[in-house]
Amino acid sequence: MRVAEISLPAIRHNLRRIREVTNGANVIAVVKAGGYGHGARIAAEAALAGGATMIATADLDEALALRDAGIEGPILCWLFGVGTDFGAAVDAGIEIGVSHAQQLEAVAAAARKRGATATVQFKIDTGLSRNGAAPEEWEALFARGAELQAEGVLRVRGIFSHLANAGDEQDRAQAAQLDRAVGMLRAAGIDPELIHLAASAATFRSPHLHYNTVRVGVTVYGLSPYADRTSAQLGLVPAMTLRSEIVALRGVPAGTGVSYGFNHVCEVATTLALVPMGYADGLPRALNGSGAWVTVAGEPRPIVGRIGMDQFIVDVGPLAGRIELGTPVILFGDPELGHPAVEIWSGLMRTINYEIVAGIGPRVHRLASEGGEL
Ligand SMILES: *Cc1c(COP(=O)(O)O)cnc(C)c1O
Repeated sequence: MRVAEISLPAIRHNLRRIREVTNGANVIAVVKAGGYGHGARIAAEAALAGGATMIATADLDEALALRDAGIEGPILCWLFGVGTDFGAAVDAGIEIGVSHAQQLEAVAAAARKRGATATVQFKIDTGLSRNGAAPEEWEALFARGAELQAEGVLRVRGIFSHLANAGDEQDRAQAAQLDRAVGMLRAAGIDPELIHLAASAATFRSPHLHYNTVRVGVTVYGLSPYADRTSAQLGLVPAMTLRSEIVALRGVPAGTGVSYGFNHVCEVATTLALVPMGYADGLPRALNGSGAWVTVAGEPRPIVGRIGMDQFIVDVGPLAGRIELGTPVILFGDPELGHPAVEIWSGLMRTINYEIVAGIGPRVHRLASEGGEL
């Protein structure tokens, strides 16, 4: 009764579109946080089928789970707890995005213990002031990496950084820092195979920041990273259709209070439909009273009354005769198909589309679909 239908053709199409925009660069598809709520394995398989050259997650556990699920080929991850044991990563051939000396030594120790060679990429901070080695750490980190590479304990395959998206000038300053780091890495005797800076936003607007690799997340799922441009304007197709069904219908007289606190009272006699999805499923409770709507029988209909943990109410009065128990309710999907855009919710919630899709809860069944061939 709660389904996030994930269009595999849409994800494959989005990958082809990203490859068209990047014109031959390697494409790392980011499937962290359960593939931005779409299902990590579903997203990874479809992205690879669409031509992604590598998969990435934030957490090591997510990367290992993908390997266990049968995803072959390169997988990168870059965010680790203190004291992480990298043994499982080395065994599974997961590439480690190393942010500081202690991590580098921990990866080397795990590889040495196994008589194996770990693959790492240096994650550097060029101005975001978040995860990644600070400029004053680069020289020592790269020198130690070269030493361990000469020893055969690890291979440094790449170097990458992440943009703050603070503006074109700031992007260029970060790129200049990355260029400087690449120069230092080469001077240390390491020639990185992969250099990457651009996530979705820079991939679609700043070709000069593509280097030889881009690292894209939200656009894989067909969503726009910009407030002022839609998926369709970028040539992307939203992959997720969030839907449920009507599980109860009730005719009510004018004056009927609806849901907790009666903060919605029906002005006229109408029909109320019960939909079994709530804030535990990622439908923000604060959408209450905001004008959020869903589509039922192809028509936009308002969510009324407070959203519960498991269920909400839709006023379907004008649809009487066209609906019954089991009629599908579309919460969001591809606006080109007449569904509400996820950006309506993110706009009402004063957040970004990323947060809405990543917040779809575990009770929602992710259904991979070959429907809608593109
Ligand atoms: C999440 C993430 C990405 C992907 O960002 P999008 O804006 O979704 O393309 C890329 N790089 C890093 C380091 C990230 O954390």
